[in-house]
Amino acid sequence: MNIILLGAPGSGKGSTSEQLISRKGMTQLSTGDLFRKNIAEKTALGLEAQKFMNAGKYVPDEITNGMVEDYLQTNHDNLVFDGFPRTRAQAEALDKMLEKLGTKIDKVIYLHVDEEVLFDRLTGRLICPKCKRSYHKITRKPQVEWICDFDGAELVTRPDDAPDKIATRIDEYNNLTATLINFYQAHGKLVILDVNGLSVEAIYFDIEEVLN
Ligand SMILES: [Zn+2]
Repeated sequence: MNIILLGAPGSGKGSTSEQLISRKGMTQLSTGDLFRKNIAEKTALGLEAQKFMNAGKYVPDEITNGMVEDYLQTNHDNLVFDGFPRTRAQAEALDKMLEKLGTKIDKVIYLHVDEEVLFDRLTGRLICPKCKRSYHKITRKPQVEWICDFDGAELVTRPDDAPDKIATRIDEYNNLTATLINFYQAHGKLVILDVNGLSVEAIYFDIEEVLN
């Protein structure tokens, strides 16, 4: 079973992914991790990607797709795709790669949250710079104000969680995702979950139901 998680920043996609990993033994395939790994290991694709990144340029699809394809050779089941595919071309490439390996994307789950809710969540978000856990000024306070419960590091807000930047991020996400939503809907794989006000736990159970 392979799934793609779609959801705007603040939709709970990250924590949902964590649940699928810890409770269902799924593996997250994130392009961020693949980039870091390929660059650290100085693979041909990693070196190539680094050139574009150093120049502040978008890494072309064929490089990103190549890294994904390499990864899939050894691991192509029980995956949660997060942040890939980002475009229709990548989605089509992914379908072909999986088909060659005799597998496929089973479901694409879109976590829908109203924009006002996203806005409130993101403006109140606090992040631990050390362990990357996230908190919230109102809904998920740390035990001691501004201090991480797990490692005592001082929490920070992310620069792109500033209110003016958030509206832009949500817009960008919506534009990007609209294409993927149409693509997977046409393939009969899209499931839209309305997760407004749902806890991480409740979202997880909804997803389990979809997958069963
Ligand atoms: Zn921490």
